[in-house]
Amino acid sequence: MAHALAEQCLRDGTSPALQTGTSLQGVEVNEEMVWAVGQYLSACRGLKQEASWFDIEQYVDLSDLWSDEGETIPEPMFGTADFMAYHDDSKTLYIVDFKYGAGVLVKVDGNSQGQYYALGAYLAMRHKLDIENICIVIVQPRLADEDGVTRRSWTLTTDELMDWAKNTLKPAVEKIDRGEVEYVAGTHCRFCRIAGECEKLYDFTLQSAKDEFDDLDTSLLTNAQLAEVLAKKELLEIGLKAISEEAQFRMETNGETVPDWQLKPRWSNRKWKDENAAADALKLLGLSVDKIYKVVLHSPSEIERLLKIGGAPNARQLISPHTERHVTGQKLAPELAGSAGDEFDDGLDGDDQPDGGRDTPPVDRDLQK
Ligand code: SF4
Repeated sequence: MAHALAEQCLRDGTSPALQTGTSLQGVEVNEEMVWAVGQYLSACRGLKQEASWFDIEQYVDLSDLWSDEGETIPEPMFGTADFMAYHDDSKTLYIVDFKYGAGVLVKVDGNSQGQYYALGAYLAMRHKLDIENICIVIVQPRLADEDGVTRRSWTLTTDELMDWAKNTLKPAVEKIDRGEVEYVAGTHCRFCRIAGECEKLYDFTLQSAKDEFDDLDTSLLTNAQLAEVLAKKELLEIGLKAISEEAQFRMETNGETVPDWQLKPRWSNRKWKDENAAADALKLLGLSVDKIYKVVLHSPSEIERLLKIGGAPNARQLISPHTERHVTGQKLAPELAGSAGDEFDDGLDGDDQPDGGRDTPPVDRDLQK
């Protein structure tokens, strides 16, 4: 829904804050969504100011890549680019992709999806604009990278883009068309639409579980063996999640039976049916007002967002004298993994960073050049 809100605000020039509390396609527009969309809009509107051409949610397709005589595109290849803008002075076409998710950090350098959209945009506009460079911009406001950056960009030349298109993308698509498909299970399976039905992922999950957990006595494992199992942890979790979702889908939607498993109601936490009526009743039971109600201060990141929505440009600095953070313990993390994403697992809100004292707002590396 964040995308729908962003598109609407880009088209009509309004502020997403005006939509706070409303419902968009059945989903409530909350302050976090408003803030994140605002970050994306600020990137697009900044690019738009200098642009001689721009477009919003433009349909792009890649059929021109198979335009040589006798060639036909094996499969329809198309998509919608969130936002594009062209700058005459640098002969650069910007392709902006809004990522609202906060679970997985989307890197920009070498990003295949970004190049896919960039290619579609370039093929569509190359006869109308004098494009020498392509700048792919990913705006992921709710998840900063290890440098604290939420607006990441990567510039490549059109020659480099076409080289990737002709020598990487095109052969790969043609290989798939010939049926020479090699399924490789990896963390990318998390985004795969057929993960719940994929034999490769199923085999991997089952085999790994057998390998690692048959007659498992963790105390006998060497440190190297512990590391080996941990390396498969993420993929195992993806595989198990996909299998569990598939089983639930078959039982719930198709009425099928999965041996030894059943569907049980998922209960919500208890809540007051009518808060005012409950408070009155509790008073009659002898509880004082201060025992019945509690006033809770919003978290620093929530306050920071509210300040930003209210127009404070240096919200983080304004509240930093009143904030602190402590190491509360240690957790296991892969040495080479980007640390930013892992830190958010601890329940930190939005852009609260593992900054070690860095108290500056996220910066935009390439766009500042
Ligand atoms: S789930 Fe299967 S098809 Fe999907 S990405 Fe993983 S290996 Fe490939």
